[in-house]
Amino acid sequence: MGKKFDTDDRFKKFGTVSFTATTRVNDFIDRLEDGVVTGTRCRDCGTAFFPPRADCYQCLTANMAWFDIDGTGKLVTYSRLQFAPVGFQEDVPYCIAVLDYGDYKVFGRIAEDIPEEDLVIGMQMITVANSLPNGQLNYVFKKT
Ligand SMILES: [Zn+2]
Repeated sequence: MGKKFDTDDRFKKFGTVSFTATTRVNDFIDRLEDGVVTGTRCRDCGTAFFPPRADCYQCLTANMAWFDIDGTGKLVTYSRLQFAPVGFQEDVPYCIAVLDYGDYKVFGRIAEDIPEEDLVIGMQMITVANSLPNGQLNYVFKKT
């Protein structure tokens, strides 16, 4: 016979940081609904994270602050996908890319109204929140 608990909250002892992390980075979605793409930055060492993380792997702390992905990033690489992962098959072909913002990089998708011929490695692009026809949210890269 096991010990009886009024409230079985033993899982609180497990991975508190991860649990908190999940809740905290969910704010990313709220910000995206407001049209703002965000990352997190460690208040202790200044390391920026995108996608946002709730804990810093360098300091092993959760002392993080949100920051907006604004300004321009440099297109460092892109790839045109002809075959997509499960759930994205309807979208192909589309281009995935990486923008370099200096102290962090953003991985994402090129806006569908930009033809591949217009993409030039090194060009400046912006990251913008985007609503999809099915009500889902994402972000895309656009020309400045
Ligand atoms: Zn840190």
